[in-house]
Amino acid sequence: MQALIIFTMFMILLVQPAKAYSVFDFGYSDLENANPTQLIYNISAYSILGILQYLLVSAIFELKNPMPKNKLRLNNIKREIKYGITQIFLQVSYSMIFYHYVYPYCKWYRYYEINSYGLLNFGYGMIFLYIWTTILGYWVHRIFHFRFLYKHVHSVHHSFREPTAFGYCATHPLEGISEVNTVLHLAELILPIHPLMTLFFFEYITVNEMMGHDGGEYDHSDHYRHHLYYVVNYGDTIMDDFFGTAYNSKNYQIKAKCSYVENIEDRKEAIFMKYK
Ligand SMILES: [Zn+2]
Ligand SMILES: [Zn+2]
Repeated sequence: MQALIIFTMFMILLVQPAKAYSVFDFGYSDLENANPTQLIYNISAYSILGILQYLLVSAIFELKNPMPKNKLRLNNIKREIKYGITQIFLQVSYSMIFYHYVYPYCKWYRYYEINSYGLLNFGYGMIFLYIWTTILGYWVHRIFHFRFLYKHVHSVHHSFREPTAFGYCATHPLEGISEVNTVLHLAELILPIHPLMTLFFFEYITVNEMMGHDGGEYDHSDHYRHHLYYVVNYGDTIMDDFFGTAYNSKNYQIKAKCSYVENIEDRKEAIFMKYK
């Protein structure tokens, strides 16, 4: 499933005519012309789109989730949405400020307009971004578990012990910005990476994170258990296996209890398996 999504999105990117890239120029053409009105317009437009996508796709996951929509779960979702919407607005603002006022200082910022790096660059750019986001995503998250950062930043996200898809971006503002946006923008400063690639990875991470917090059959990195047990499954399974932080049932004899359903013994759905 995951491979199919990546393949389909990659093919869409490949068949895009070079001209179409100008749609993603985020409204600037020259460093001197970076203009605040355009910045405000972009922040508003991309925030609305981002929030609509967040609400719609998360709602689809939640409707498919077998957990009953009881009062406890609905209150949890409301709280997630409150944090989530704020977070999306802050992340969009941060990225737009980067594209308007920081990225133009980078020597390949005109990659937006002239597309001089060709399809080969798309190939290695995608591989680089995959490795980069996998390694940094894992380590930034682990660093957030250091005592000081956990207490002041990451505990907000962990206050959702049994999250839903809506909870993927229910975090402290510092966390979302550093774990996703900064990781992607740093890559853009290191290598000529087309904004479409960044957008692709942003979407890839978003959908993956929604699946992880939904806890269903598509939770490939078993992230739901990270919320149940705190100190396992920090990122991609490759990283957790390598660094010995993958969940192992032998270490957790006392299983987490499900707050939404009292008796889960006869439930066979993927999310209930996380409690067994
Ligand atoms: Zn999480
Ligand atoms: Zn965590």
